[in-house]
Amino acid sequence: MADELQPLLIADLDAIIDSESEDEDDDVDEEEEIEVDINTDEAGATSANGATARIQINTTFDKSLPVAHSYLGEDLEDVRGRTIHDDEACITLPIITLPSVILVPGQTIPLHLFQSHTVAMMKNLLDKDKTFGVITTSYSPDDNSSSMASIGTTAEIYSIKDETDERSGIATVRMKARGRQRFRVIEFHRQTHGILMAKVRILPERVLPDHLEGARPQSHYRFCCCPAQQEFVKTAMDSQGHVLASINMLKKRQLNKFTSSYFTQWPPWVYKMYDTEHLINRIRNELCSWNDTLKKDSNDLDPIDFSYWVLQNLPLDDSRRIHLLSIDSAVQRLRCELSIMQSCSILCCRECDLEVANKNDVFSMSLEGPLAAYVNPGGYVHETITVYKAKGLTLMGDPSTENSWFPGYAWTIIKCSRCGAHMGWRFTAAKRKLSPQKFWGLCRASLIPGINNTDVLVL
Ligand SMILES: [Zn+2]
Repeated sequence: MADELQPLLIADLDAIIDSESEDEDDDVDEEEEIEVDINTDEAGATSANGATARIQINTTFDKSLPVAHSYLGEDLEDVRGRTIHDDEACITLPIITLPSVILVPGQTIPLHLFQSHTVAMMKNLLDKDKTFGVITTSYSPDDNSSSMASIGTTAEIYSIKDETDERSGIATVRMKARGRQRFRVIEFHRQTHGILMAKVRILPERVLPDHLEGARPQSHYRFCCCPAQQEFVKTAMDSQGHVLASINMLKKRQLNKFTSSYFTQWPPWVYKMYDTEHLINRIRNELCSWNDTLKKDSNDLDPIDFSYWVLQNLPLDDSRRIHLLSIDSAVQRLRCELSIMQSCSILCCRECDLEVANKNDVFSMSLEGPLAAYVNPGGYVHETITVYKAKGLTLMGDPSTENSWFPGYAWTIIKCSRCGAHMGWRFTAAKRKLSPQKFWGLCRASLIPGINNTDVLVL
């Protein structure tokens, strides 16, 4: 059967390769690489000939500093060990609720806790599995009530310091934890000393098999080789006296893993829609069209980790972020993220829809990517996305370097110039040689993405 199909395979190969080459070309826009001075307002993303300009941002800032959350203090103690719960396992977890913070697996969350029962809970966890659940809460102004999401993520403590103020006797905890596994809440109950507990089901991570595995004939495998193996195949074929003409064509036109789709009723582009490698490349190309720093931050991640990295860093509103967190498959998660990325072009004030930034303005000031969680001295956690250019914002008060999330930069509160809503902070370099000299940290909770197609989540 396979040998009978081989002439068809070779005859159609030119058409296949040509069509796939066109697909690859579609993935990358024609771009003109320019370098911009981010201290000016002339960092336009459109060049004179109308092509989208790739922004290159040169930073001298050490991007490992925000990840360390050094503003929490240098005296935190590392704790070791990791607990992984089975998929679908039903477990009971202590819960902390955070308004407008939706923790994603792999994401770091810093916490500064003051409530006595929460502090005691964290100290007790150090003798157990160091794992608690994080669930977001949302406030409804209509009926003046707040509600908890039904989906959350386990967080595992990896660095902590507890202390008690000698004068007041108040105990506090400063700590860092990392998101691990998603869960769905089955039921809540509150213990007598105030700790919120939840019975949860750990959500599984579905890994789909190679869709073409059963359709690929054995003879196809020897041609689906990497370029380094091509010479070996040629020698082997020669020693067995096979037809050299076929070998030469294959050497020039290599088969790929989608070629065997021609033995099925679906064309290659259908299988590409559900191929993680293809989806990751398309998302990386999309990120690269925003600016170069984003693509570098996401290197060396497997498909599941990459899908969570993208989810963490997309400036989505709460409902879209929770929807993506509820998806059990990396393929579907990547498809949904790509759809949103291609539709989203601007970031707006959540209260009044005033445009404050463009997606091309997003860049990384942290090794975790452009969006990360930071905690202020009052214990309030902000998920903050960094942009090098913003508009429609007004400054409030004087700059301060105290407890700065970006060491070496002073922060100034910014508000929406139309409605006065708090939007985040402007960061300005305290040292002359630090680059960039200024940038903005916008609160994810204050933003709503400008998405053209409201039906993008219906897949
Ligand atoms: Zn506004």
